[in-house]
Amino acid sequence: MTEKMTSQLAMELEDKHGAHNYHPLPVVLAKGEGARVWNVEGKEYYDFLSAYSAVNQGHCHPKIIGALTEQAKTLTLTSRAFFNDVLGVYEKFATEYFGYDKILPMNSGAEGDETALKLCRKWAYEKKGVPENQAKIIVCDGNFHGRTITVISMSTDPDSRAGFGPYTPGFITIPYNDLGALEEALKDPNVAGFLVEPIQGEAGVFVPDEGYLKKAYDLCKSKNVLFIADEVQTGIARTGKLLACDHEGVRPDILILGKALSGGVYPVSAVLADDEIMLTIKPGEHGSTFGGNPLAARVAIAALEVVKDENLAERAETLGKIFRDEMRKIDSDMIELVRGKGLLNAIVIKPKNGKTAWDVCVKMAENGVLAKPTHGHIIRFAPPLVISEEELREAIERIKKSILSFE
Ligand code: PLP
Repeated sequence: MTEKMTSQLAMELEDKHGAHNYHPLPVVLAKGEGARVWNVEGKEYYDFLSAYSAVNQGHCHPKIIGALTEQAKTLTLTSRAFFNDVLGVYEKFATEYFGYDKILPMNSGAEGDETALKLCRKWAYEKKGVPENQAKIIVCDGNFHGRTITVISMSTDPDSRAGFGPYTPGFITIPYNDLGALEEALKDPNVAGFLVEPIQGEAGVFVPDEGYLKKAYDLCKSKNVLFIADEVQTGIARTGKLLACDHEGVRPDILILGKALSGGVYPVSAVLADDEIMLTIKPGEHGSTFGGNPLAARVAIAALEVVKDENLAERAETLGKIFRDEMRKIDSDMIELVRGKGLLNAIVIKPKNGKTAWDVCVKMAENGVLAKPTHGHIIRFAPPLVISEEELREAIERIKKSILSFE
């Protein structure tokens, strides 16, 4: 490449040579630090997406990048055909950190979900006594767990599903935040697990009623059904606690983590569970070439240390309240609703004069704040948790200005 890179050129290259499976805002990023990112031409933005909550620790956190570069010079990948000298250290660290007997390391969030489904089925056959191939897992309307065939088989979103059948069987779909529906579905003796997002992120930051998770957990326990929490987006301090389930004192039987487990530096996901569940999977029955590699392990230790060292959960809790309070003060009839927990928030936009959530996001980008609509009319706001109060207030002013420009 001898041509000078510009935003325009970068977009043309992606359009011409890349699959068209995303529809990004027309912003081409070239650098990130903390809560800020810069485009190719040097324009600065506050990042209010954080790569869908993967960059909770901030862009290019020096401690995590330090761990990455040090380990990268030493040993990156061995596969699990051999042991490596970091994986066990990470496994001890992470299981103590989250309070489980065992961890199973993978790479992407979707793989984490797939792993949890396999574990749940295996447990159902070996421990619960569900007849072979009869295990069912309850999932929720509006869920998002990733993009693999089995994961989209659980989805109710036509964009995720349509055109990709046939689908994996074995799922029962119930409305989110509906304990009656859960109770009814749990009557089926072949139900092995209930998979739930503590807050539905991709669906538009749907926060369930207070007490929902705890009651759902208790219902599952009463039927010997595993409570499986997908905390890929809500976990790692995003909602104001280490895990969103911590708000209700719920300890999932199977916990799925991804995204910020690496601070957005490297694809690292994991499933945590106790021995009774985890040891049902035997050698050769599950795995991944890259899962648990030394680079991922070092990065994840550093990323999790940053969360505690910098009190990111407490920061998310405090700053989230400021954010929602300030958003609710904006005098615009385009704002239908502000909701969220910690620094995982959303505004539901009522279109005005043909202007939609997309137009608001384009305007915010012009004013130096990056966010992306989800489902057309909802804008999610999820800055890195290292954002300072001063930076947050500056970003809030830019968001206000953008929304009020449509009045
Ligand atoms: N689960 C949840 C709750 C998510 O929000 C996502 C991604 O947004 C995933 C799973 C999938 O993660 P990945 O894109 O890393 O496969």
